[in-house]
Amino acid sequence: MSEVRQKPVPRPAPESAPYWAAARERRLALPTCDDCSGQWFPPSRTCPHCLSGRVSFTDVSGRGKVYSFVTFHRVYHPAFEGDVPYVVALIELEEGPRLLSNIVDVAPEDVRCEMPVEVTFEDVGEAVIPKFRPR
Ligand SMILES: [Zn+2]
Repeated sequence: MSEVRQKPVPRPAPESAPYWAAARERRLALPTCDDCSGQWFPPSRTCPHCLSGRVSFTDVSGRGKVYSFVTFHRVYHPAFEGDVPYVVALIELEEGPRLLSNIVDVAPEDVRCEMPVEVTFEDVGEAVIPKFRPR
């Protein structure tokens, strides 16, 4: 496999490092405000609800529903040639925050908005990426 055919992996920033570390342990963890208990995604240094800088990461259920999605039919990176068509979706977690991921273990034509989903984890090189499947 040539270098260009390897899938790009996330490069954790200081703000997102705990998220990716949790994923490696097969946990979905979101930034949570120590002051107002708000949760959000993507990770940032300050709480978007109250602007507190006191942020921890806490595990969430991993359950949610498809808020919106698109099916990719075009190959934008050679490493994804064998994956098309694939679904990129905005997942609304039971806890409220929405995050972008893939819907797997279902035919793309069967994905629907409001479909209940749960997190699953995919090893990609050194990284573990949270994805979602029907539940
Ligand atoms: Zn807050």
